[in-house]
Amino acid sequence: MDMLMYTCPRCKTCTGTMHPGEETVESVCPAFERYRYFTYAGGGKCYTAQGLLEGALQPDADMAEVIYRCTLCKACSEQCAAHSAEPSEIARQVRRELVAAGFGPPEPARGLVQSVQRNDNPYGAPRRMRGRWARGLGLKDASKEKVKTLYFVGCTADLVPARNHFAANTVKLLQAAGEDFGVLGENEFCCGATVFNLGCAEVFEELARRNVEKLNSLEAERIVTSCAGCHSVLAHVYPEVARVEYRVISTPEYLEEMLREGRLKPGRELGLKVTYHDPCHLGRYGGIYDAPRRVLQALPGVELREMRRTREKSWCCGAGAGVKTSYPEFALWIGEQRVREALETGADVLVSACPFCEGNLSDTVAAMGADIGVMDLTDLVLESLE
Ligand code: SF4
Ligand code: SF4
Repeated sequence: MDMLMYTCPRCKTCTGTMHPGEETVESVCPAFERYRYFTYAGGGKCYTAQGLLEGALQPDADMAEVIYRCTLCKACSEQCAAHSAEPSEIARQVRRELVAAGFGPPEPARGLVQSVQRNDNPYGAPRRMRGRWARGLGLKDASKEKVKTLYFVGCTADLVPARNHFAANTVKLLQAAGEDFGVLGENEFCCGATVFNLGCAEVFEELARRNVEKLNSLEAERIVTSCAGCHSVLAHVYPEVARVEYRVISTPEYLEEMLREGRLKPGRELGLKVTYHDPCHLGRYGGIYDAPRRVLQALPGVELREMRRTREKSWCCGAGAGVKTSYPEFALWIGEQRVREALETGADVLVSACPFCEGNLSDTVAAMGADIGVMDLTDLVLESLE
């Protein structure tokens, strides 16, 4: 385990942030805000890890209950006064200890892990279901012919019908930009973000090595991802497991490039006020804050209104790290805080760039009966082209 946990003096800076000119502290940690015990905060997780390391604590069901009620949103690491401590990474390491001792992941999430092992996706779908959304589109099979750009679709956009539009939109945009691209269809495997975040280190590492070998062999110049989780794992975690020979770019970055080069020309006035939700795995994990905003600002008739907690200080959507599966009421509670913040901006639409964020934010809007749309960045760009 990471010895940097010993740099934590329990200052609690990881739980909140202050806005310039204001004196009140606004929470950034969903787990601490909901459960109000320091054990749930990033710093508390550092102390749990110390207890495990020193033998003062043993992994057990109570510890798992606390450690898994966390979206690994990384807001604590961003705020941490000790900075080097990376409490969210320490929390992930504690999950690995819990899994090794048989206390993790939580029961509802175990099916996800088994499905990744059996079907190469977390959704229990047989492998032959992969790529159904692309039937009849005549897309190049990147496992059979060399392409300049691989579109790595991801399990959620591929296999969850309500999120298929991420894949369909991305393909339309790649085509509109005149890109030489292909997909892997049945030969695409889960990126492993789910098992990585649940603490199933062995399952993840096997998957990561297999994926890196496959992706390296394609010799594509770059890989485009439309899922923040896939992007985070392919770009930042795989290189810690194996030598990668590919370059990864997220859809917001790709769209920004295409708009800058004039390969996509939005013309239709949308007449919308929008607010942008930073997905944790693009923002805090990937540092991708400007590209989606530049894309929105390039669309005619789109007015961007920022939420109070934005960019590095964004409040998580609530879906990540198994929370949506294991603690759905907590996921909705987190989502509700975000939707309320979006409503305060007066925006017509809450825009994001991740199928997971869109899923939980849409469920939350429906549960609240809130008067705001939820869309992906690709939805808006496509609408402005049509
Ligand atoms: S990762 Fe997010 S939810 Fe988990 S402790 Fe840190 S700030 Fe809180
Ligand atoms: S994790 Fe960082 S911010 Fe949180 S209590 Fe410890 S030192 Fe302070």
